[in-house]
Amino acid sequence: VPPLSHALQRIEASSTSAMTDRARILQADGRDIISLSVGEPDFATPPHVIAAAKDALDAGDTRYTSVMGTTQLREAAALHFRRDLGIAAEAGDVIVTAGGKQAIFEALAATISAGDEVIVPCPWWVSYPQIVRFCGGKVVPLLTHPENGYRFDASDLEALITPKTRWALLNSPGNPTGAVYPEGMLHAIADVLRRHPQVMVLSDDIYAPLSYTGQDHATLAALCPDLKDRVLTVSGVSKSHAMTGFRIGVTTGPRWLLEAMTRLQGNSSGNAASISQAAAVAALAGPQDFLADWRAILRGRRDMMVERLNAIPGLSTPMPDGAFYCLVNAAPIMDRFGRDDNRLALHLLDHGVAVVAVSAFGGRDGFRISFAASEESLRTAMDRIEKALIGQ
Ligand code: PLP
Repeated sequence: VPPLSHALQRIEASSTSAMTDRARILQADGRDIISLSVGEPDFATPPHVIAAAKDALDAGDTRYTSVMGTTQLREAAALHFRRDLGIAAEAGDVIVTAGGKQAIFEALAATISAGDEVIVPCPWWVSYPQIVRFCGGKVVPLLTHPENGYRFDASDLEALITPKTRWALLNSPGNPTGAVYPEGMLHAIADVLRRHPQVMVLSDDIYAPLSYTGQDHATLAALCPDLKDRVLTVSGVSKSHAMTGFRIGVTTGPRWLLEAMTRLQGNSSGNAASISQAAAVAALAGPQDFLADWRAILRGRRDMMVERLNAIPGLSTPMPDGAFYCLVNAAPIMDRFGRDDNRLALHLLDHGVAVVAVSAFGGRDGFRISFAASEESLRTAMDRIEKALIGQ
């Protein structure tokens, strides 16, 4: 194999994709596998979004756009930031990327130099530490625990801040944890940040519309306008509007950073796909009423899953307040699997359910299971997990 760059050697292929691919291979082989490893909603993309994509094609909307995104989408995204997140953004404060993932990559790649530290709450979304390492930064895990609903306290954050800390990542609602940070906790975090002006915050709010607390979404840039120049807020349509394949993310933050990200994007992928941008305008500026139905459905599934998971001896999971995952702690039964949660995940796969070992997310002794699947398949999956783990 020809030598790979030092930067690439620091990262690995995404382990969530690995499990999903494995489940697909088994399915193609005729095995009956319920795949609850993937991070996407099972709902169909709303018809008005599909129609907008078709209209864009028919209108010949097939050319390069501005690297920062079309004016229409930047306006729709600014509306989304104001309406759904409470952040005072105008079109000029927004850029469009190919998915939220690209925005996170660009923000970190544009600002991290060798040795810079990035505090990442753990368990984390798989790509955060990989991107930090790719950029030559140092990942500083901020451990969270099921007893606190996988939320950290402001004092835990402050204890990890050093003069080298460049970023702290926040993800609410969280993947894989489902943790939602209420206003009070964010205010306490803001107090810490005010004492450490070298620290920027990347607030990944991509699951914001999928929160079940009944409260308005709370986010740092909205709650603490004095910190706005230090906060980059990433959102999108992938999760909330069932548009993972369209590859559109939207980001707001200080203009110097948006410009730096655009410089990188202009020399790599260029603009996000024009058709997808037109679809995302419909998603963000069009009707949002379907979201209330989706939330109600997801909430019902969540309640069922949490109840059934917690009823299995040795498993426990806190109530996830948002997103569509339960993060299950299986520590009491891990001896059966040589304390290797990949073995636990493979054991469940043998019984027909694909989940992701929590070690993929920097945690241990458990797994993440998605509840973005039909209630019927979730019930069958739970029957299989019971069979796999009870009375062995
Ligand atoms: N942030 C989190 C926490 C996610 O879970 C994901 C998707 O899995 C993303 C960002 C990226 O989303 P996108 O598909 O828009 O790139």
